[in-house]
Amino acid sequence: MTDAREPLRRYLEARIALGEPPVILPSLRRGQVLAALAGGGREVKGPPELARLAREGTAERIRELDFDELREVALACRRCALHEGRQHVVFGEGAPDARLLCVGEAPGAVEDETGRPFVGRAGQLLDLMLMSVGLRRDEVYICNVLKCRPPGNRNPQPEEIAACSPLLLQQIDLIDPKVIVAFGSFAAQTLLGTRESIGRLRGRTHLYGRFPLVVTYHPAASLRNPGWKRPTWEDLQIARRVMDGDSGLRSGAPGGELSLDLP
Ligand code: SF4
Repeated sequence: MTDAREPLRRYLEARIALGEPPVILPSLRRGQVLAALAGGGREVKGPPELARLAREGTAERIRELDFDELREVALACRRCALHEGRQHVVFGEGAPDARLLCVGEAPGAVEDETGRPFVGRAGQLLDLMLMSVGLRRDEVYICNVLKCRPPGNRNPQPEEIAACSPLLLQQIDLIDPKVIVAFGSFAAQTLLGTRESIGRLRGRTHLYGRFPLVVTYHPAASLRNPGWKRPTWEDLQIARRVMDGDSGLRSGAPGGELSLDLP
């Protein structure tokens, strides 16, 4: 007779083999272990399979994962050299069924320390910007193109983008947002496959696959250049209209007053 604790034992062994703490992550407890214990339902990728995907998973295999599996693979991922210097993988946070998805570049120092995206002053400004279009942080989903911090905040390398992109692409497909907002030139250029500047890309709606996509300045850039706060607000208003069902193919700045000053 099969020991009912076997999946749990294999999971903990796999984490130890990866050098991760032997703890049960809540997402896995809810998803895979219970499903495995129940012994039914769809095919469940066992923890050793997820550990293997975290080491060497191909884009095709990663694009088959559900949200819990994707998170597990990302949190243990060693598929590019950035895993060597990271403190935390910054997978993303927010509502998994969010209608608006924010995508930035890569974790900075505070994100690497905390494991959370868009924290610190740039994160505070993002929260204010979202509030200015009637959205709370917990109503949207926030993530980055790269899940691990490049050393010294250097620009991501092509091989790192290639390794990490399947995680983001699957994240986008699973969240299935009404609109994506790309913050900063790196996220915009990566998703749109262009070298155009933000100044030329912002202020209108693009398409990323089947998803409308709006490009705007990164909050960290707006902290350095406060004059970019208003265009960011205008771009977020475009995204909000798309999220609410407008095609968003009209461009143009909305009116109104704006206050995005941090205390
Ligand atoms: S940056 Fe992405 S591909 Fe590289 S180790 Fe981190 S999660 Fe994996």
